[in-house]
Amino acid sequence: MSAVLKPQSATPPTVKLLINGQFVESKTQNWKDVVNPATQEVLARVPFATQDELNAAVASAAEAFKTWRNTPIGARARVFLKLQELIRRDMKKLAACLTAEQGKTLPDAEGDVFRGLEVVEHACSIGTLSLGEIAENVAGGVDTYFIRQPIGVCAGITPFNFPAMIPLWMFPMAIACGNTFVLKPSEQDPMTPMLLAELAIEAGVPPGVLNIVHGGKEAVDLLCTHPDIKAVSFVGSTHVGEHVYKLSSEHGKRAQCMMGAKNHAVVMPDANKEHSLNALVGAGFGAAGQRCMATSVAVLVGEANKWIPDIVAKAKTLKVSGGTVAGADLGPVVSKNARARIEGLIQKGIDEGCKLELDGRNPKIDGYPDGNFVAPTIFSGVKPHHTVYKEEIFGPVLIIVSVDTLDEAIAITNANPFGNGTGIFTQSGAVARKFENEIDVGQVGINVPIPVPVPYFSFTGSRGSKLGDLGPYGKQVIQFYTQVKTVTARWFDDAAVSTGVNTTISLK
Ligand code: NAD
Repeated sequence: MSAVLKPQSATPPTVKLLINGQFVESKTQNWKDVVNPATQEVLARVPFATQDELNAAVASAAEAFKTWRNTPIGARARVFLKLQELIRRDMKKLAACLTAEQGKTLPDAEGDVFRGLEVVEHACSIGTLSLGEIAENVAGGVDTYFIRQPIGVCAGITPFNFPAMIPLWMFPMAIACGNTFVLKPSEQDPMTPMLLAELAIEAGVPPGVLNIVHGGKEAVDLLCTHPDIKAVSFVGSTHVGEHVYKLSSEHGKRAQCMMGAKNHAVVMPDANKEHSLNALVGAGFGAAGQRCMATSVAVLVGEANKWIPDIVAKAKTLKVSGGTVAGADLGPVVSKNARARIEGLIQKGIDEGCKLELDGRNPKIDGYPDGNFVAPTIFSGVKPHHTVYKEEIFGPVLIIVSVDTLDEAIAITNANPFGNGTGIFTQSGAVARKFENEIDVGQVGINVPIPVPVPYFSFTGSRGSKLGDLGPYGKQVIQFYTQVKTVTARWFDDAAVSTGVNTTISLK
């Protein structure tokens, strides 16, 4: 069973692999510690699976596909009806595990699980979601229809920042469509995905239909090149996503890669000040800025620039602490490396002449002397050539860009290579509509920060934040995880007279 939430002993527990319905110990010599980012406590050891283990996971998925593909839709849907019930039952346990290994606050960890749970609920509608279409009498006595069929073994590679939501973006929809799945979660926080896997098995996912392997580049490269894998879903950083997309595509697979971001929120001077600044600060610093849809750039237009002191004042009120501490607004960042990287970028911003309005480096956090904490940090006077503007910081750092007009704000946002999410804060419908129409970013919030669509829509990041045409969940992922087969059919009436040989392409 999982390594999760067991009492600490001298030897940390090991995270298991899930192969063919069994939770098994890896035989690898290569292990990595899973560390609580608030305390540095070693929670578990995660294996980097051997080639044989990776191949066994794919083989088990390939074998299971032979029967799962023809399992009735209702039976598949009922597995997810059960899974959503089990996730609700274990919500607190999942959130506690997530906070321990990832660092985010408990309420935010529950949010992480809940946004994934919504996708599981969506998977229960697979019957209507996967319907085909028919046209009768496309020629004399001829009907054409299409059916959706599963494509085979699919793989998923997930990042550290949403260890519940993003695995749940992937395997429920893939499996509900009749595919089988191999998931490789982030090696930084693999325990929450394993708890979800246990629930999936308890819910009735048959052996081999869901497999979980652990590791890093070697495991990812094997999944992207394995001949039995038909599709790869990836969420993570841009440089890895580009690699995954190229490798998977070169090996004839479908690939969808959701990657890095630099999300701009435009604040107009007519915006509702209190609501807008609360949203900005919440979306900038929540989850310690480690969300792909975090607001990392505030574009203040005209008179809205007078609100910089108010933004700083609000950011100062946020409580930074261990994720389990009541009232904590943000926890630590995921690792010592991440903290060093973020602090290095803050220093770069200072060196390049950006104005440091709030310095969150080296905060003293009561009871957590060893945590990877960075408190809210704000720069103003930032221009597009500054490193803090160009790089995805992925930490609690909000940078402020000042412009005079809405047109300038739109131009700056559209010139940024990323296109994951954006937002506008205004009380003017006309301004909001112009923004919605002209902005070249795939997900837009109007007076809404972090506009991550609910699962009946799809996640539609664009431009440099995405490779592949189709996004996770919603209608798009049904297309991604199925092959359309179009059938043109005529049934002969034995009594009818044959019209003879037809050597043309036309249907009669
Ligand atoms: P990451 O790219 O380092 O890791 C993602 C996955 O790739 C992990 O499973 C990891 O083991 C694997 N990996 C790491 N290095 C690899 C390599 N060289 N070759 C092959 N595989 C490799 O990302 P992360 O740090 O875990 O997550 C943060 C990033 O994810 C940020 O850039 C964030 O914007 C992005 N993200 C994007 C979205 C989105 O929907 N666009 C959502 C969440 C996170």
